[in-house]
Amino acid sequence: MHLYLHVPFCQRRCSYCDFSIAVRKRIPVREYVDVVLQEAGQVGQAGFETIYFGGGTPSLLPPAGIATLLEKLRPRTTHDVRRTVAEVTLEANPEDVTPENAKGWRAAGVNRVSLGAQSFDDVVLKWMHRSHGAARIGAAVHALRGAGIENISLDLIFALPDELGRDWERDLDMALALRPTHLSLYGLTVEPRTPLDRWISRGATQAPADERYAEEYLTAHGRLTAGGFSFYEVSNAARDGYRSRHNSAYWSGKPYVGLGPAAHSFDGRTRRWNLRAWEAYRRAIAEGRSAIESEETLTDEQRELEAIYLGLRTTEGIPFSALRRLPASFGAWVFEESGTLKCTPEGWLRLDSLVNDLAMQTGIQQ
Ligand code: SF4
Repeated sequence: MHLYLHVPFCQRRCSYCDFSIAVRKRIPVREYVDVVLQEAGQVGQAGFETIYFGGGTPSLLPPAGIATLLEKLRPRTTHDVRRTVAEVTLEANPEDVTPENAKGWRAAGVNRVSLGAQSFDDVVLKWMHRSHGAARIGAAVHALRGAGIENISLDLIFALPDELGRDWERDLDMALALRPTHLSLYGLTVEPRTPLDRWISRGATQAPADERYAEEYLTAHGRLTAGGFSFYEVSNAARDGYRSRHNSAYWSGKPYVGLGPAAHSFDGRTRRWNLRAWEAYRRAIAEGRSAIESEETLTDEQRELEAIYLGLRTTEGIPFSALRRLPASFGAWVFEESGTLKCTPEGWLRLDSLVNDLAMQTGIQQ
């Protein structure tokens, strides 16, 4: 079993973000911890192989709040979360990573931090409405290492509007120079009702062309591969032994439990998701009701298609035999290796359209 905890609080909204967040100056730590533990009681507990604090901004939770959650959510039969949970990840914004917080997180059982670096250019960070400056990223990595957290992932965003003049190669080099164990790369997408969407509608900025997306993705692929990383999923690259076990569980179709507003759970066949808004979620749990907003049960065909989609996202690929007939559009974007079909980096850029073609060919409703 794998556990995801959604921590919805942020101090401001980033210009591109449409996540389910609650912007708060003061974080209701006690209330959040109580309500999540109450939800955990409703859904029942299991022994968790990985725990992932995602958000929102989980690093706004003080170490004591994280310690309480980990203490209470550990498997019932054991006593030390550090011995029983293989990977405990905390998403953190660089400005929250002080030496004290890092030590507190480590003592609570966090052994992996995913740091929202995004860029090493202050102009770009300001445009994104991030609350950290570039200098904070290196300081955060230093503080984490000082506290004994060596497994550090950096998030970077690429394909930004031209007028920012962002130097993507410089950002990649700056990230590599910090010697992270893992990197996650996200292409900027324009989501409805975000500040970015409004800027584009009034002509203040332009969405970058698809060519920039492809070019920067392939540049990153080449540079990180040369730097000792291997892309094990379309957006994720790791040094040997540092793949994210939690995210790998999603991509291999394993069951997981999600707690907190907007969190998703999956039991292998049915996917359920919680109320998105913090207040609605909090009220439901406080009144003893379920926080589940809705659910969908996958048909056998949908599960088959999803397994193909997830497999092609990763370097695991899919058994060649999983496809009755290879759609013509797959052409040069896939290759076969010992009976397994895998995407090339160029194929990863077209993954959604490849899987759409496959769904159309097989007549499966996605
Ligand atoms: S910190 Fe993360 S979750 Fe919060 S607004 Fe920014 S991108 Fe969204």
